[in-house]
Order: sequence, then structure tokens, then C-alpha cells
Amino acid sequence: MDNKSLAELLFPDVRESREDIEKRYPARDLPDGACVTRIGPSPTGFVHLGNLYNAIIAERIAHRSGGVFYLRIEDTDNKREVEGAVETLINAMDYFGVKFDEGAASTGNNGAYGPYRQRQRKDIYHVFAKWLVEQGKAYPCFLTEDELNDIRDRQTANKENPGIYGKYAEANRSLTLEQVKENIESGKSWVLRFKGEETGEYISVEDAVRGKLEMPRNNMDFVLLKSDGIPTYHFAHVVDDHLMHSTHVIRGEEWLSSLPMHVELFNTLGWRLPVYCHTATLMKIDEENGGKRKLSKRKDPELALSYYQQEGISRDVVWEFLLTLLNSNYEEWRLANPAVSYLEFPFSFEKMSVSGALVDLEKLRDISKEVICAMAPEKVYDEWLDWCREYSTDFADLLSKYKDRTIAALNVGKGGGTNSFVHKPRKDIENWKQACVFMSFYYDETFKIYDEMPAECADSVTDFFKKYLETYDHSDDSSAWFDKVKSITEQLGFAVKPKDFKKDPDQFKGSIVHITNMLRIALTGHANAPDIWEVSHVLGEDIVRNRLERWVNK
Ligand code: GLU
Repeated sequence: MDNKSLAELLFPDVRESREDIEKRYPARDLPDGACVTRIGPSPTGFVHLGNLYNAIIAERIAHRSGGVFYLRIEDTDNKREVEGAVETLINAMDYFGVKFDEGAASTGNNGAYGPYRQRQRKDIYHVFAKWLVEQGKAYPCFLTEDELNDIRDRQTANKENPGIYGKYAEANRSLTLEQVKENIESGKSWVLRFKGEETGEYISVEDAVRGKLEMPRNNMDFVLLKSDGIPTYHFAHVVDDHLMHSTHVIRGEEWLSSLPMHVELFNTLGWRLPVYCHTATLMKIDEENGGKRKLSKRKDPELALSYYQQEGISRDVVWEFLLTLLNSNYEEWRLANPAVSYLEFPFSFEKMSVSGALVDLEKLRDISKEVICAMAPEKVYDEWLDWCREYSTDFADLLSKYKDRTIAALNVGKGGGTNSFVHKPRKDIENWKQACVFMSFYYDETFKIYDEMPAECADSVTDFFKKYLETYDHSDDSSAWFDKVKSITEQLGFAVKPKDFKKDPDQFKGSIVHITNMLRIALTGHANAPDIWEVSHVLGEDIVRNRLERWVNK
């Protein structure tokens, strides 16, 4: 076979050479050791946690080394593409604070190594495809859908490996130039296949997390270009990561099995292999059987990144959570460095786990509470307001209207009041959605009584609030205030010390616990709420009197 003529027949419009293309993608001007990484999501419209998981690794590796992190849209699969998906993806990444130095933008491309959408790179792939044909390393294959199905059935029946190789490739590999020409002229559709070699050899690849991988060398005639001329992931990945000078390819472990194809292509094209990093699949504990299983799009809402946005889970929380999954020493580092940004964490491949990463929402909740508790109230306010603007506009109006009160409220239980526990700050907020419920009592517009007054107080409600309001002085400090509460407690026949009531319940109507619960319910709607004195000072005297007076006249 005259490979040059075959290449010309298959790619008559390709005029550029490999060298021409390479010139357009010169080596990057970066300091020694700088890593170039990317994420290559497919625009399916569904952005999953794994996208962010891999993005965080790639971003950390690039930016901690002074390198470049870019976004490439892998849209070679026509069927999966959804309108607006690129925008959704970019917005989601932006929401979670993932910043790209270059790559696909919602309209167009940003950077010198583009275009960054694979469909816009068709001509580039064809230059390398033509070269492979010229070298006798690729050929057109005219197998029809039926023929392929037939081959698969035979292979299944014979317990052979599926795919086109060896005897299954023979017919199309040995077509003459004339036959190829006839097929094309008669309108038969074809794909371009790589010519695999049956060597029985093994390849060895050093994976950044998994260490040395020994795998059988590729023997498959895998597809490089589909019948519409669009490349497969395998071919596009190799061409793009070479031209864009990716030093590290961070991707899910589902790609491990196709690694031999990629290695074969890099070697055939004479290009240096990037460092591969195959990341662990996201798993969860199955609620029904207690076993570990892969997160499922259908069953597990937490697989979608939109879940975290809709629930209002802070970006910092999601980062801390993913870093905990990603590096086994993260939690230890966090304890030793409580006040430092997670961006300071010395992220490394060595501390990454090879087995499935467990997504545990309980753990996420704990991390959320810790992170939000440690956040400055002004930052909590800003993030919460941003979220409300998108997901709860009524609440956004309240937050804007009562900014000072809200910030003061976010300080409650953090050591601001004389009565609070500095060493055990309250961890009430876990996400912005729940904050809208938890904090609703701070605003008359959303204040509601949820809990019932304690039964022990049934006969004492009016009396209590009357006395309380008579002696209430908003300028009392918390101990003067508490002395008054104790005095009324006693006057009404309740035990000031809960243990006295426990010891001798017939002596008292109840204890101070019932009294303060009653007060808390009247002020906040809940028996379980932050410190009454502090809350009263956030609400202000008018609101306090207003809420309590209702109980005097009941
Ligand atoms: N398009 C591939 C995916 O969505 C990307 C794999 C890669 O990053 O190389 O899984």
C-alpha cells in the first residue's frame, strides 16, 4: 500500500504539516518545575462533584508550582452535548472559586493555546491523523454497525477480548488503494483506526498516585476519528495535551483501562508522556445495605455540584471537605493551622488515596459547622446574602435591610456577650439554606413561635412576663439580668437550682430551666436557642418588649 496516496485520498484538504501546527503551540515560558494542568469536562449539562474534585487537584498542582491551569471542553461526543452546558460548567466552577488561567470561556476562548473546544480543533486532529496514515500507523475501516455487532457476538461466544484487532482487523487493513477509493466513492462511511501491534509486551507507567503501573501494551485497532471526522477522546486527549503542554493529566480512574492506547499514541507520535494521575472514584455508604458503592446520578443528589449550590454550602466548606477526601494529612494540618487559608495547605500527590473516596454528608455537615463558626461574621453575611440573592430573594431583602443586626446576630455565642462561652462557640449554621430558617427569629417579618410553652409554666405565663417586663432594664449586664430572672423564678414558686427541683419536685412548680425556656420561646420561637441576654441585645429593647408583651395579655 502506498501510504502517502492513501493519506492524500483520505485527507485531501489537509495542507498543513505536523511542524506547522507545532509552531503554533510553542513551549510555554514557565519557571522550572511549573506544572500545566487542565480539566477536560464534557458539556453534558450535569456538573458533578468529581469535576470539582479533579479541578481542585489540578488547580492546586498548577498554582502551587507557579504553573498554568486551564479549561478544555471535550465536546467530541455529539449526543451528550447540551445547550448552555459550557456556561453552566464555568459558572459552577466560579461559584466554587475555581479560577482558570486560560481556556474555554462562556463565549470564545481565552489564551494562546486554543481553541479550547475540541470540536473547533477538527483541522488540527486531521493533520496528525494524516501523518499517522502516511506512516502506515492508521487506516480507514469500513466495518458497518451490523458487522461490528457480528464480530462482538463471535468474540463473546469464543470468550475472546472484544474489539478490532488481529484477524478481526485483517479485512480492512488489507484493502488496496483502489478498493478504498471505490468504497469512498460509493459513499460508504468509514472511521480511522490506529494500527495496533500484537507484541505480547507490557508497558510500565508511573502514575502520580498509584505508583508504577504494569499493563499489557495496546494491541487494539482503536478508533482515532469517527465517521463524521470528529476524534475520539483517546486521540483528542493525546493531541491536545501535547500541544497545550499539559505536564500532568488528572482524570478519573475510569480511564485507567484505556491508558495503553494513550501511551501507544504518545510513543507513535514521538511525544513525551505527561504525568498521569488517575483519581479515586467517589463512593458512599449505601443506606440500605451498609456497603460501599459508587455515587449514582439517579440516586444521590449530592453527586451534582448544583446540590451544593442549592443548599447554600459555602465554597470554603466544599473545598475543606474535598481536601479532606483528597489528602490523608489534611485534617491533621487543619488542626495544627486553624487560622490559615486552605490554599496554604501543601497539597501533594503522595498523600492521595488510591481507593474510592467516601462522600459522607454527615462529615460535610460537621465541617460546615466548623468552617462557618470560624468565619468572620462579615464574611458569613456577604456569602449568605449572595446566596439569598439567587435562591431566596425575600430573605435577601431582609438581610440587606437589617445588615447591622444580622452581623451582630452572627456574633452571638462567639464570645461577644458577657455570658457566652468563648471556648465553646456556637456552631448553629451549616449552610445558607438552613441559616434562613435558623436565623429567622431575628426579624419580625419571619419570626414565628414553633415550640409550646412548658407545661410546668401553664399557670405562670402571664405573671412571669408581667413581672419580667416590670423589672426589665435593657442596660443591665448579663449577671444583673440573670439575678432578676432568678428572683422572679423564686417568687413564682420555681426552683432556682434545677437539682433542687429534681430532688423534691412536689415543692416546686418547676425549675429555672422551665422559666428560661418560656422566655426563649417567647423571644425566639424555640426552646433551644442562643443565649437570651445576647439575643435580647441583638433584637433591641423595642422588639424584646413587643414580643413579650403579647404574653401578658393572652
Ligand atoms: N472528557 C473526559 C471526561 O469527562 C476528561 C478526561 C480527562 O480529563 O482527560 O471524563
